[in-house]
Amino acid sequence: MDTLADTLQRLREAFGSGRTRPAEFRASQLKGLSRFLKDNKQLLQEALAQDLHKPSFEAEVSELSIAQSEIDLALRSLRAWMKDQPVSRNLATQLDSAFIRKEPYGMVLVISPWNYPLNLTLVPLVGALAAGNCVVLKPSEFSRSTEKVLAEVLPRYLDQDCFAVVRGGPEETGQLLERKFDYIFFTGSPRVGRLVMMAAAKHLTPVTLELGGKNPCYVDEDCDPQTVANRVAFFRFFNAGQTCVAPDYVLCSPATQERLLPALQSAISRFYGEDPRGSASLGRICSLKHFQRLQGLLGCGRVAIGGQSDERDLYIAPTVLVDVRETEPVMQEEIFGPILPIVTVGSLEEALAFIRRREKPLALYAFSNRSQVVRQVLAQTSSGGFCGNDGFMHLTLASLPFGGVGASGMGRYHGRFSFDTFSHHRACLLRRPGLEKVYSLRYPPYSPRNLQL
Ligand code: NAD
Repeated sequence: MDTLADTLQRLREAFGSGRTRPAEFRASQLKGLSRFLKDNKQLLQEALAQDLHKPSFEAEVSELSIAQSEIDLALRSLRAWMKDQPVSRNLATQLDSAFIRKEPYGMVLVISPWNYPLNLTLVPLVGALAAGNCVVLKPSEFSRSTEKVLAEVLPRYLDQDCFAVVRGGPEETGQLLERKFDYIFFTGSPRVGRLVMMAAAKHLTPVTLELGGKNPCYVDEDCDPQTVANRVAFFRFFNAGQTCVAPDYVLCSPATQERLLPALQSAISRFYGEDPRGSASLGRICSLKHFQRLQGLLGCGRVAIGGQSDERDLYIAPTVLVDVRETEPVMQEEIFGPILPIVTVGSLEEALAFIRRREKPLALYAFSNRSQVVRQVLAQTSSGGFCGNDGFMHLTLASLPFGGVGASGMGRYHGRFSFDTFSHHRACLLRRPGLEKVYSLRYPPYSPRNLQL
């Protein structure tokens, strides 16, 4: 069996040989990835069900079809994305050729988490392959079944001199991070993001960090409470709440809370039945560690809806908490589970101040019948992404960049943004060998004529 050093050496040599650069090679890898998804659809659905009890609808819309559409877009756009991009010239370069060349970085590392173990591994991979890199993937050790398919089946569909999967947890990832990569793309927690950035600094390796945080959801008094409750509950409890862009908490007035609570109860009963434990539409918590952490959070504030849990099944009912204080753990850490606290505020200004005194979130949501309220929230806050009057639909558009700001991360991807992230933007100027008489005006000894240039 190859050691890590052998594997990385093989990839380095393959990149050095130049074979990943032509558009034909990149397209062949993307087609291989597409075949992998199509041939193994059933296997992948089963792996996601084993790892997260993921309902097949959720697996389809949030994992398989997102990866497939990113591949299709990259295949359609590859040649256009790879084209040199001409830029404007100044007087001194009028006769020259000036352009930006997008060139592959070399050997890149993609580290992914367990909550969307396929999407968050394959979507960055699409960008890395389209940009002509050799790639090492490090999936999460917590989504074991998906990790196994990625490690054992995916390499058969790609050029194994240019692609490798490394399995393992913090120790193995730590060993990987000691090595020199040309780019690191990390999705995961802010805590590990810091470790990745520190390791990358030793080699001056550029990074993208796709991190998490607490995504506020402001609900205005002027709204239809049932519509808002349906949308907030759907996006909060999707994947059992284990979504980096899920609405993490609701901010609203006490009067709006009174109207929202029965509407949330109604939405939860319609979506998951009277006993959500029996619902095939509700996922489970990924590990005992996270289950126990979430159970601790159930003790914050007062349970208004749900609150039941079962450790044997890693089940936590869709839960709404009220009377939550800002200082309690549920308002201090990212929840990442099916728990929705409601925090009451006296006014929109108070809600905006609440949002602004916390770290910048990955996503921010505002619900109102008044478009000026939604626009005011947008104008007076900052976040990685924003959606008015719905949950995380903004990330379904490959035409929008996806990424955080401040503590929720740095860098962006999806669609063309992925290609650009995994490409070095090389500044190129091609001048003429002749015209020395004109060029020589700049040479010393300096005199006022130098300024004519
Ligand atoms: P994590 O940070 O614990 O793990 C992510 C990856 O890092 C895994 O592959 C893991 O093996 C590796 N890792 C863990 N500890 C490490 C260490 N000490 N040294 C080196 N590598 C280590 O995150 P997670 O629990 O898998 O995922 C949940 C987090 O990811 C949440 O914070 C969530 O918000 C975030 N997330 C962000 C996005 C996004 O797109 N911004 C998407 C999904 C999840």
